[in-house]
Amino acid sequence: MREHFEIRAHDGAARIGSLTVPRAGVDVETPALLPVVNPNVLTIDPSRLRSTFGVDVLITNSYIIHSTDRVRERALEEGLHDLLGFDGAIMTDSGSFQLAEYGDIDVTTAEILEFQHAIGSDIATPVDVPTPPDVDRERAAAELETTETALADAAAVDTGDMLVNAPVQGSTYPDLRERAGRHAASTDLDVFPVGAVVPLMNGYRYADVVEVVMGAKRGLDPDCPVHLFGAGHPMMLALAVACGCDLFDSAAYALMARDGRYLTVSGTEHLEDLEYLPCSCPVCSQHAPADLRSRGDTERERLLAEHNLHVTFAELRRVKQAIRSGNLLGLVERRARGHPAMWDGYRALLDHRGELERTDPVSKGTFFSVSADSPSRPEVERHHDRLGRLTVPDRLLVTESKPPSDHDYDAVWRIRPPFGPYPPALSETYPLTAEVPERPDVAAERAAAEGVARLAREHAHASVTLAHDDWDPAALSAVPEAVELEDLSRLGRSNG
Ligand SMILES: [Zn+2]
Repeated sequence: MREHFEIRAHDGAARIGSLTVPRAGVDVETPALLPVVNPNVLTIDPSRLRSTFGVDVLITNSYIIHSTDRVRERALEEGLHDLLGFDGAIMTDSGSFQLAEYGDIDVTTAEILEFQHAIGSDIATPVDVPTPPDVDRERAAAELETTETALADAAAVDTGDMLVNAPVQGSTYPDLRERAGRHAASTDLDVFPVGAVVPLMNGYRYADVVEVVMGAKRGLDPDCPVHLFGAGHPMMLALAVACGCDLFDSAAYALMARDGRYLTVSGTEHLEDLEYLPCSCPVCSQHAPADLRSRGDTERERLLAEHNLHVTFAELRRVKQAIRSGNLLGLVERRARGHPAMWDGYRALLDHRGELERTDPVSKGTFFSVSADSPSRPEVERHHDRLGRLTVPDRLLVTESKPPSDHDYDAVWRIRPPFGPYPPALSETYPLTAEVPERPDVAAERAAAEGVARLAREHAHASVTLAHDDWDPAALSAVPEAVELEDLSRLGRSNG
């Protein structure tokens, strides 16, 4: 059991949890987004991050603090919280990227952690090796060993009540990520960042992000809090949370504001291109795009950064509510429709549905809808999986309409795409209580047809008749020949 992390609700692999940060005396509800604060360039005052945006934890870079004399002296003297004017929890990054870039690595893990402790960090980070994507396997494996040594060194340092990150590396090799996750979880370190995914996200390689995260998750224990390092675009939050990530950080809100970019849940817009602001946050309610463009650089940057944070935190709240309501995958799917690369990420996630189901509570509230394009959602799979355990009579009618008043079948079951057949007794049980479209599309019909095929296969003794309402031939092709077909629309019995 991880001492500082408690999971309170699940939906698939997603969870709502609580990370206790003892040194700050703060409990952070997860999923949480940590704004990245550069102490040299405060786009938004950190005290406002807390009062206006409800930020309980932020992240800043200890390397920048260490390498800027004036800031370093103040941080050591006053502590980070006073320096930044922030009384929540503060995570510090070690600056592995900068250290790797400038070759300044003659500092030990103990020294790096001691400096972070001395400036008052609440969650510190050892120096790991952030191996980029697509390097050859030998390099990824060798660098992972260096990271594992750093983590072992970090675990040996007495850091008092400061939490310590255990970064999980391994480049784009899911099995190395898994090994790294297993090693990290075996230490008594506290928080588990999946590192070096920024190049993947910058390249819109969301399917690869999913593979990397799922690899790390397989190695980590289920109760490890997972931080997707460098991820904070609102477009991808739902997807990343659905993979089981708990913490995110956003430098994007400030960096993008600097060059006039405006975040939305389906991508990034340029202020230059906008005639309207599609958002109801305080900034967008009170300003027109032309108004924002006419402001001075500093003020425009601040206003855009505020909008970027508002839209990001609103999405985070939407994600949390979706977890509570048990329909996060529905939100992921809606976001996936906003961008082709997100769609690839969503499909990659569905490839892991077995892993998602492992933590999904079997019974929960009705989810809003099962969309046509995602009939492989865990709920549909789970229903089809239990078909083999049901008792099926010799002569069975499976109908999309009301049962005929007069028939000589042994039993009449219902079918509603995308779900396969079910006996009437199950009609009020989850997930069959789900609202589904009255006009299912081909993919939903196809999923239901696959349920019929599954039933016929698992109960070969039964003679099954399927009465469908004008299903597409592409869907019906999934039904085995042994199943007799009736088209209700031709019999004038549709819309039952
Ligand atoms: Zn806005």
